[in-house]
Amino acid sequence: MENLFYEKDKKIPGIHHVTAIAGDPQRNVDFYTGLLGLRLVKLTVNFDDPGTYHLYYGDEAGRPGTILTFFPWPGARRGRRGNGQVATVSFSIPQGAMGYWQAQLKRHGVATGQPKSRFDEEALAFSDPDGLLLELVAHPAAESHAPWQEGPLPAARAIRGLHSVTLWSSHERTAALLAETLGFRPLPDAAGRSRFAATPDGPGALVDVIHRPDGEPGSGGAGTVHHVAWRTPDGAQQLAWRQTIGEQGLHVTPVMDRRYFHSIYFREPGGVLFEIATDPPGFTLDEPQAQLGTQLKLPPWLESRRAGIEQRLPPLDLPGKRVA
Ligand code: ZN
Repeated sequence: MENLFYEKDKKIPGIHHVTAIAGDPQRNVDFYTGLLGLRLVKLTVNFDDPGTYHLYYGDEAGRPGTILTFFPWPGARRGRRGNGQVATVSFSIPQGAMGYWQAQLKRHGVATGQPKSRFDEEALAFSDPDGLLLELVAHPAAESHAPWQEGPLPAARAIRGLHSVTLWSSHERTAALLAETLGFRPLPDAAGRSRFAATPDGPGALVDVIHRPDGEPGSGGAGTVHHVAWRTPDGAQQLAWRQTIGEQGLHVTPVMDRRYFHSIYFREPGGVLFEIATDPPGFTLDEPQAQLGTQLKLPPWLESRRAGIEQRLPPLDLPGKRVA
């Protein structure tokens, strides 16, 4: 009975990471570490395509809820934002930091509109160099997550992890799955969006759904999100999720070893690719926190091919260092 209760009572505690597609890896590193001041917390390869990088950005420790990752394919064609995708990735910034960020983006030639008020927050929208739609969201809870103290930008203004993702969906069941199956708490609608909150609060605790019954479907490519991963505390709860998702009539993959977490994947009814990823073992599995992201890391099953992999990867200037 205990196990049954555990299984029925489970709730997603928020976003684990978001993975998107980029073009040029150097341009991606420069934008996310230089302009946005995120930490490169893991430099590795796409395990299914080891000739390309997999770049992970996050907070000082690479905590779940702060992670945005990219598959950078040089020369990749651009995708199209649309239904069945995460359309926007939003980062938290402290209240009072909006002026700093408007100046920072302008100084680097990044176009923005004016910040928009919605719920209890102000959101500034802009695009990354591949056209991925991002937001900086100033809100009261941002300061509950510590900034990267040693980062390149002033800590008092710095990004405090993910704020939310915004899904575009034509399907009523997208919202129902979040609330009734995954355990998100529906908040009152505002600004044409339905908002869902994870419990407990933390970075990446919110998901917005914009219902677009007549919207065009998106297509994958550079500048689009590939998937959003939700957190789960351990492998036992992940297996319970796998059963629950299957009972909803959705196709769910077996558990996959992603080295820094274990993953299952499924498409929600509106078409967005969802992953459920374990918090452990995390990014300090193969390098100490002080050295995160400073060298190319390969999983044990690719280590014997390191020389060939390094030869195929394009050279990359990291913050303070050149690799490959
Ligand atoms: Zn993922």
